[in-house]
Amino acid sequence: AKARGGDRRHWFDAAMDEQAQRTARLSADLLTALDRDELFLLYQPIVELPSGRATGVEVLLRWQHPTLGLVSPDVFIPLAERNGRIVEIGRWVLENACRQAAAWHRRFGPHAPSKISINVSARQLAEPGFVGEVEDIVSRTGVDRASLLLEVTETAVLEAGAPLEAVRELRERGLRVALDDFGTGQSSLSLLLTVPVDVLKVDKSFVSGDAADHAGAVIVEHLIGFTNGLRIEAVAEGVETEDQAHRLHAAGYSLAQGYLFGHPAPAADIEAGLLPVPLA
Ligand code: C2E
Ligand code: CA
Ligand code: CA
Ligand code: CA
Repeated sequence: AKARGGDRRHWFDAAMDEQAQRTARLSADLLTALDRDELFLLYQPIVELPSGRATGVEVLLRWQHPTLGLVSPDVFIPLAERNGRIVEIGRWVLENACRQAAAWHRRFGPHAPSKISINVSARQLAEPGFVGEVEDIVSRTGVDRASLLLEVTETAVLEAGAPLEAVRELRERGLRVALDDFGTGQSSLSLLLTVPVDVLKVDKSFVSGDAADHAGAVIVEHLIGFTNGLRIEAVAEGVETEDQAHRLHAAGYSLAQGYLFGHPAPAADIEAGLLPVPLA
């Protein structure tokens, strides 16, 4: 039936209500997610081009909600940032990722992933005690600090003051920092001159998104020149096809991440790929 204006508005309001309710519920449930053991970590390989050999992994958080199922971090991280839970959740991620990295190192030695990338949110960086906490976790878990790469977004470090200072201090203490989702923020290039980072992660929208075939390709090719000049490592994100991998390699990229090389997976799956498989 054709809805009159009033009915349509009614339908729209109801849908909005439902959405708002779902968000409020998720936000509330997030407060107890840690205590109830509902959070877990997946690991996605970061590989060398052209060999495809995994040199590191990115740690990606997941939330198994008791009734709503698996909730995406794109949904719940922003909620955790708003309700403040991100500080505690981020600490948990850092601690567990470092513990996993140390365990891999003990068990697999030179075959263990040599780089562990961990996402850090703006709220965490702005916490006065953040750097001390990282130090604490590093010494408690026994992880090699040189193997850690803390990924922060442009928007995070652009928030004036504390986050930028925290980035500087982390690097002074021998921890490496990556600028994540590079190119999606507002002042990307100038940011590179003010925020000293070790690694630049070129956003997947340039690599495999809608723009990847046109402007994306041009941007990707120019960014590698910038990073070489600034002695920053570049990682291309979101590599999904052989063709993309070949073009990135041709453009000068030697590090890549994406579904082509492996989806985010449990630690056990990563381990299965660590030991060299003897030829049959
Ligand atoms: P991100 O840091 O940019 O992480 C990469 C995202 O791209 C991941 O999504 C990953 O699964 C996805 N991805 C990897 N390869 C491909 C590909 O080839 N194609 C496409 N289309 N996507 C690919 P995921 O795991 O859903 O995480 C989404 C975002 O949530 C992350 O984006 C990050 O911003 C945030 N996040 C995840 N874990 C954490 C965490 O522990 N702490 C914080 N603060 N944020 C996190
Ligand atoms: Ca990341
Ligand atoms: Ca990213
Ligand atoms: Ca992202």
